[in-house]
Amino acid sequence: MADRGLGTKATRHRTIEKLYDRGYIESDPPRPTALAEAVVAAAEEFAEHVVSEEMTARLEADMTAIADGEKSLEAVTAESREMLGRVFEELRSSREAIGEHLQESLKEDRRLGPCPECGEDLLVRQSQGGSYFVGCDGFPDCRFTLPLPSTGEPLVLEETCADHDLRHVKLLAGRDTFVHGCPRCAAAEAENTDDEVIGPCPEGGAGEGGELAIKRLRSGSRMAGCTRYPDCEYSLPLPRNGEITVTEERCEDHDLPELVIDADDDEPWEIGCPVCNYRAYRAREAAEELEDIDGIGTATAEKLADAGIDSPQALASADPETVAETVEGVSAARLEDWQGQLAG
Ligand SMILES: [Zn+2]
Ligand SMILES: [Zn+2]
Ligand SMILES: [Zn+2]
Ligand SMILES: [Zn+2]
Repeated sequence: MADRGLGTKATRHRTIEKLYDRGYIESDPPRPTALAEAVVAAAEEFAEHVVSEEMTARLEADMTAIADGEKSLEAVTAESREMLGRVFEELRSSREAIGEHLQESLKEDRRLGPCPECGEDLLVRQSQGGSYFVGCDGFPDCRFTLPLPSTGEPLVLEETCADHDLRHVKLLAGRDTFVHGCPRCAAAEAENTDDEVIGPCPEGGAGEGGELAIKRLRSGSRMAGCTRYPDCEYSLPLPRNGEITVTEERCEDHDLPELVIDADDDEPWEIGCPVCNYRAYRAREAAEELEDIDGIGTATAEKLADAGIDSPQALASADPETVAETVEGVSAARLEDWQGQLAG
């Protein structure tokens, strides 16, 4: 870009960010998406002025000229306005053709491979609730679907499963980004994995008879869930990767074994009792969120969490008088001040 006189040092970083945000490039190192290639092709075909480097380079040279006092602002804006007018006219007259072009390429970026039931293409789709899944392009005639993990935004990779001829899926979720692989393989693995009962379900009193079992879901995620599901919906999330070892040590409070996760590239992770581990995790999360509020420190956040106020939402709807009576050192007025911050 520098060689061609495009952009400045300050804008190049933002340009790359924008390319990611708009789905024109993906992965690291970046590769162009089918959408990006289609946008360029459509622009070249229907609006050649937009893609001409001369136009951008000329505008930037003009801006420098204004800064150096060599050209007047009025002359340059009049010229740019005329240039942009021409560009928009080109785009407007071919709007529909461009739209079709891009629609087709958006689909290309979501295409996985053949549907095992009808032979049409499987695509990454989004439900009305916003969650992603694999559906068939032959819908509604074909209703074949596969689940996808509930974390992150799916990215279809070039890599293809040799058994199912399906492209692998990666889930982009910041630091939690992971490769899900072939969705059919993930579903098959879940079907071939037996649930492993580890102890009594902590929900429901004696006589309920529900047991907690380590389960692998067809979406590839793992959890400890009740064997009485769907009558009992008690479940705890477990890490997606790594081998789970059920140790001999048991938690006295929950009569559950302590778990250890062995991942390839990491030290073994001693989760301990899954119920205690999850509670500790929730308490940490809650305290962290409450600490974002001005005037709430770690000690206060913990005291509030103990009193059942374990999220900013719970704080917002708490009754100040009741809290003042039950949480030591927190007056009704202080609580109202925090609630005011949340409302603002
Ligand atoms: Zn199908
Ligand atoms: Zn596969
Ligand atoms: Zn249960
Ligand atoms: Zn426990």
